[in-house]
Amino acid sequence: MQKTIQNIFSPPPAHTVGDGFHVHNFFPSGINQGIYRMSPFFLLDYGAPFYFSPTDTPRGVDVHPHRGFETVTIAYKGSVAHHDSAGNSGIIYEGDVQWMTAGSGVLHKEYHEEEFTRNGGIMQMVQLWVNLPAKDKMTPPKYQAINHKDIPTYLCDDGITILEIIAGEYHGTQGIASTFTPMHVWNCKGNAQTNTMITLPAHYNTGIVILDGTVSINGTLAEANHFVLFNNDGSDISFQSDNEFTCLILSGEPINENLMPYGPFLMNTKEEIVQAFDDLRSGKFGQLS
Ligand code: MN
Repeated sequence: MQKTIQNIFSPPPAHTVGDGFHVHNFFPSGINQGIYRMSPFFLLDYGAPFYFSPTDTPRGVDVHPHRGFETVTIAYKGSVAHHDSAGNSGIIYEGDVQWMTAGSGVLHKEYHEEEFTRNGGIMQMVQLWVNLPAKDKMTPPKYQAINHKDIPTYLCDDGITILEIIAGEYHGTQGIASTFTPMHVWNCKGNAQTNTMITLPAHYNTGIVILDGTVSINGTLAEANHFVLFNNDGSDISFQSDNEFTCLILSGEPINENLMPYGPFLMNTKEEIVQAFDDLRSGKFGQLS
């Protein structure tokens, strides 16, 4: 049975995170369906292709904390550097993924990589905030730095369309990222010969970001920079195209727990938010300048 489309959203007005990330917030705000609609995914900031002029000082977001969830950054064009209070740093190059478990808390900063900054260029990226279940919110911080070449791929039955299995699993192809709750995070890449169908659990919250090109999904045309939100009914999603396209498929088992989001924290109760601010003030998130 087909997983029917609830709606296709055009990109909401962009805002700039720090001075470096020009993003459209598809959820929770853009699609206006409440904070649980895409659980376990809480937030999706989509940086549609945006040109940055050459400069000497890297643009980005200065030091800030996170607690209670994971940030997943995928660079599609351009490259992103990061540093954190646990002493980790690195560069997310085109096609790479950084899966950061903030857990009990980190301070970090995220900004354009140096060479990209000097040369200027087009940035296209995604940042997801993935909720953690209550029992794992205070897990120690962890990084999964994933190079594009290490992401397992699955070839669909049309012999053309490729799924890059970042997280989750498909027909025995295991994703590279470990997750705390069941979810699928896949890039889907096809071309003018794409004609295939995938299946996902009916009860998983499911959405697709169209990154590049145009693709017919369950017979409905979806254009680049749009977000396709599915009803939690069937399992099958068909893809047909007459051009090259790339999209990001998100599908996860809902975490059925009360959520209390506040700024950079994503906890279950108001008391835990107050505690997070107390811990931040008393230095429990470490130091980063
Ligand atoms: Mn951050």
